[in-house]
Amino acid sequence: MSKLKGGCMCGDIQYDVEGDSSVTGICHCPDCKRQTGSAFSTIVGVGADQIVVEGTPRIYKTKGISGEGVLRHFCGNCGSPLYSVVNSMPGVAFIKAGTLDDTSWLVPTIEFFCDNADIWTTQDVQRQKFGLMPPG
Ligand SMILES: [Zn+2]
Ligand SMILES: [Zn+2]
Repeated sequence: MSKLKGGCMCGDIQYDVEGDSSVTGICHCPDCKRQTGSAFSTIVGVGADQIVVEGTPRIYKTKGISGEGVLRHFCGNCGSPLYSVVNSMPGVAFIKAGTLDDTSWLVPTIEFFCDNADIWTTQDVQRQKFGLMPPG
């Protein structure tokens, strides 16, 4: 099994990647925050022509900082963001790492749009941790 296999929450859309990834990063840009509903997105760069998709993602187009389009592919049924194709970086697609079947191997090595990072993501603070949910 490819380690770059994944899909959306409802299962309507599945993807697999032929070959390997180029980079795993974190993006703090405002659009990634909105699309993921989280503080940042974790993304895996792959060749756009390496992605084999089953199902038909919907595409929402935003404008990147370069002024070029960012084509955000997502599931029209369950809403999961799946991957983005950035027109200013031809041939590259960025998979939303949370949609991979196996995320255990991921180690982000680069961060983008840090000027827009939420303060807590840059601080080394202790948080209360539970294996699942708090008991009771
Ligand atoms: Zn879905
Ligand atoms: Zn972003």
